[in-house]
Amino acid sequence: MSADLRYRRVLLKLSGEALMGNREYGLDPLMVARLAGEIEAVHALGVELCLVLGGGNIFRGVSGAAKGMERASADYMGMLATVINALAMQNELERRGLVTRLQSAISMQAICEPYIRRRALRHLEKKRIVIFAAGTGNPFFTTDTAAALRASEMGCDALLKATKVDGVYDADPNRVPGAQRFERLDYLEVLSRDLQVMDASAVALARENRIPILVFSIFEHGGFADVVRGRGRFTLIDEQG
Ligand code: UDP
Repeated sequence: MSADLRYRRVLLKLSGEALMGNREYGLDPLMVARLAGEIEAVHALGVELCLVLGGGNIFRGVSGAAKGMERASADYMGMLATVINALAMQNELERRGLVTRLQSAISMQAICEPYIRRRALRHLEKKRIVIFAAGTGNPFFTTDTAAALRASEMGCDALLKATKVDGVYDADPNRVPGAQRFERLDYLEVLSRDLQVMDASAVALARENRIPILVFSIFEHGGFADVVRGRGRFTLIDEQG
């Protein structure tokens, strides 16, 4: 194990959009491969690693509901989308010789394990990369909340939220010139300023369980490996004062 690790067990939340590359929809295999490379580098440091993948590149419950679908049904479709993404990532990681286990919050015994907390913990101890699919298994939630939930259940040292930019800003830096970047924030500040980093429920859950959230850019080569060593650029969200 690398001696300079700041976090020994982490959960990485990757949104569906991250897997999309420049496409309008779905999966870009080159992007999946690139992200898998970043994950492989962190695994090589000896970090115990679990992943939660979003599904927004395929289907989002709210957009289905906006078109007149019942929200719960639309959300189940969104959860299935996360399973597609998880299978793609599992395939790419295993192609690189990494050992992974996929656990779904909605049982799909032909393709993956059901979510069993103790079994997932055992996989992590054995240095297998555990991918959690189907979010929390409940409609009206998001994969951000699933990430905070699983990070809490797995006793992770940190929840890493991968984004397109190198931290949290007070406005979208790609659209608002001069947007201010934060080095560190308190959970309550994220909630009260409605900073749109993660859902309020995810932030509240991380706060309750004292899990720091690190927001960083997954598109920075080596950025993920830097963050687990406490280096590089990220915004740290934790309890302050
Ligand atoms: N979803 C859900 N419950 C969960 C997690 C996800 O119902 O616990 C559904 C919801 O419809 C959501 C979709 O799955 O829109 C995809 O997840 P999310 O929007 O969080 O993906 P991301 O934005 O990270 O790509």
